[in-house]
Amino acid sequence: MTSEVTRGPINLVVLGPPGAGKGTQAVEFARRHGIPKISTGDILRDAAQSETDLGQRAKVTMDAGGLVDDKLMIAIVRERLTRRDAERGFVLDGFPRTVAQAIALDELMTDQGPLTVVDIAVPDDALVERLARRRVCGQCGNATSVAAGESRNRCEKCGGELVLRSDDTESTVRERLRVYAEATKPLVGYYSSRPTFRAVDGQQSPAAVWAALNNAVDEMRATPSAADCGSERTVG
Ligand code: AMP
Repeated sequence: MTSEVTRGPINLVVLGPPGAGKGTQAVEFARRHGIPKISTGDILRDAAQSETDLGQRAKVTMDAGGLVDDKLMIAIVRERLTRRDAERGFVLDGFPRTVAQAIALDELMTDQGPLTVVDIAVPDDALVERLARRRVCGQCGNATSVAAGESRNRCEKCGGELVLRSDDTESTVRERLRVYAEATKPLVGYYSSRPTFRAVDGQQSPAAVWAALNNAVDEMRATPSAADCGSERTVG
């Protein structure tokens, strides 16, 4: 499904717990609309692969299931949003993750048009199992789900090796879910009164979530007041 509504930039925030499928949906949405997908988790994982002090510190925090410092995350996103490719909009995956980050994002949006926020809602008990089955391609980053006992270890998109993310181990997953409930879930309350917020049921198939996500975005962008919400100013 494609978006029929093309007014102004699409500044989409995909919210949801770890394992909700944010990354998969965000990649596709960004590709369809020709806008960048900005995943703070990917940015941190890239940094962690480098030998820099910052990258190594981020890796320790990520592997423990914690959150990287707000100030650093806000600085990373601020810089990323000023790049040229974000002028026509962007999809944010994994940011904001705290109310402080959401407030900072609203401040950044004064020059970028309104935010559109979609929460992919999935209950906790479904997430632990989903994350245990998640594998990511070490080469292209594509995420996939393997069935219990399945020996598939090659990415269907590029043939790269499928690996378990270092923070998808059971103890780290539990900590990530705890941190999500404490620090990130309050964002649903932060955004939910806006006409540019929708929740979609993340327990459907990825194709059904995709359809619901696109419907939600189209509906919000067709709402006249949407252009006035989520930022002080609007871009015509
Ligand atoms: P993700 O790929 O979005 O699941 O992120 C992986 C990990 O990166 C998280 O568990 C955090 O440790 C860290 N991280 C990603 N985005 C943020 C953020 N916006 N604020 C703080 N930490 C983050």
